[in-house]
Amino acid sequence: MKRNLGWFIRWLAFAVCPALAMFLSISHALAQSPSQNKSDSGDLILINGKIITVDQKDSIAQALAIHDGKIVAIGTNEEIRKIAAKDSRVIDLRGRTATPGLIDTHCHFDETERIYGLELSKITRVSEAVELVRQKTSSSKPGEWVTGSGWDEGKLTELRYITAADLDKVSPGNPVWLGHTTGHYGVANSYALHLGKVSRQTKDPKGGIIDRDAAGRPTGVLKEEAMGLVTSLIPPFSKDQQRIGVLKMMADFNSEGMTAAKDPGTEGIRWDLYQELLKENKSTVRIFALLYGGRDLESARAVFARLQAQPKPPQSFADGMLLSGGVKLYMDGSGGGRTAWVYDPWFKKRTEIEIGNTGYPNIDPQTYRQMVKLFHDAGIHVSTHAVGDRAIDWVVDTYADLLREKPTKGLRHGIIHCNIPTDHAIETMARLQRDYDSGYPETQAPFMWWIGDIYAASFGAKREQRLMPYQTYTQKNIIWAGGSDYPVTPFAARYGLWSSVVRKTLNGVYGSQPFGTAESVDIHTALKSYTIWAAHQLFLEDRIGSLEPGKDADIAVWDRDLYSIPSDEIKNLHCELTLLRGKVVYTAAESK
Ligand SMILES: [Zn+2]
Repeated sequence: MKRNLGWFIRWLAFAVCPALAMFLSISHALAQSPSQNKSDSGDLILINGKIITVDQKDSIAQALAIHDGKIVAIGTNEEIRKIAAKDSRVIDLRGRTATPGLIDTHCHFDETERIYGLELSKITRVSEAVELVRQKTSSSKPGEWVTGSGWDEGKLTELRYITAADLDKVSPGNPVWLGHTTGHYGVANSYALHLGKVSRQTKDPKGGIIDRDAAGRPTGVLKEEAMGLVTSLIPPFSKDQQRIGVLKMMADFNSEGMTAAKDPGTEGIRWDLYQELLKENKSTVRIFALLYGGRDLESARAVFARLQAQPKPPQSFADGMLLSGGVKLYMDGSGGGRTAWVYDPWFKKRTEIEIGNTGYPNIDPQTYRQMVKLFHDAGIHVSTHAVGDRAIDWVVDTYADLLREKPTKGLRHGIIHCNIPTDHAIETMARLQRDYDSGYPETQAPFMWWIGDIYAASFGAKREQRLMPYQTYTQKNIIWAGGSDYPVTPFAARYGLWSSVVRKTLNGVYGSQPFGTAESVDIHTALKSYTIWAAHQLFLEDRIGSLEPGKDADIAVWDRDLYSIPSDEIKNLHCELTLLRGKVVYTAAESK
């Protein structure tokens, strides 16, 4: 960015906050109304902006005032300058666009694996993975684990899984595990398979698949519950490593204008880490944490006891910074891995029917219902992973039955992913939302992009037209909450905004828009799903999700106006400044 001398002088004058002044003009408010009551005034005012408020009328404002971390007024430059205190700091947006801080309602909030493991999300050939493993094993001690994640056969020119045979030649002395980007499968080398006692004779574990070649030999690819045969042997990251992973996640979130996340599975020490970072004042992202409820009543009861000891949402720790939200359950597996529970068989390469494979529920459906009942009856929020149409039906029918038995408004039970809901599921969600404030899709538009090519291959031409039916939702008055499912897709919410509008796959293996555009929504609607509707699924809609007086000042400033740029450019939005409760947590200038 070009900076003139005026910028530089202002920067010198306000070196108290140099990072801000680097690119946004800051000065003291000049005008002040004599009748000004100090308590109404802003510590900080934003002027000369295009402030997208995402209020009821989707109104746009020029300026806003912040006092004590809260928005106290919104209006024109004049109106805001009038009420501003004499010593208010001023951020001159110079025409830039601001939005509420963006919210991700499904993010595995941890970059530890990306920092300490092999990063495979950018590779385009099997040989690149092999080379990375070779480099890593050459600097590892014999027997030491080599792990990585992020690969996706849909992005490899070979369009096939990585196998043990690929890895064995460069890793004879080390066990290797490379997780797929979906997290629902991965590949082990022969050393790791041996440690996990996986051989030709090993039967598929319950809820899992050991992928085999034509001769019945394991290929190294393990799906769903079968992954545990190997992954349970990998030593966990240390607490210090995980702390670094969470802090990096927070910083990276802020750099994308993001200020809140729903974390579906705060097992191990993650909850303690969140508490610790809050106490140390190092937390820069609001977290709504779910605990994984397991796959049987026993695990559900253990989690139930933990949750009962915590305040229920909207109660929170540190004024809306951390919530013990409820429980996450699973109904089925993955669309890319063709394990999700569907009515009609999965496809391979889009047109080859995989005869007999309709996926499966990865939990006993009746047990699942009893588990939800345990939580529902106690007033605990439940969100369930359901990708396939049959799994989604089971989940929404479970919610509907339990709500009929014990009507409770406002528990906001969610359907995570909710990829291909049937008409029945759509009608049910519409009714549950209207009658009980429940039944909300927590969905990830960027699946259509980042894993869109394997989705197009698996779902098949007819079924995939109804993938993430956002347009139908709007017609039925259904609201949904956006997310990334990071590390399944890159976490930046701009990708989700863009995907909701254009529905394009990464590589266009089966055409650039195999899912059609009939279910596209406009950017105004897409933005709601990453702001006010997402806030609702975090039980924080009274605090965040829109820029209105009384709400917390979580704000993102962008280099361009997402409401007027061509749709394809939404993906390239660049965040310049992020505020959390009126405090600067990120500036683009400082990061350079
Ligand atoms: Zn997930």
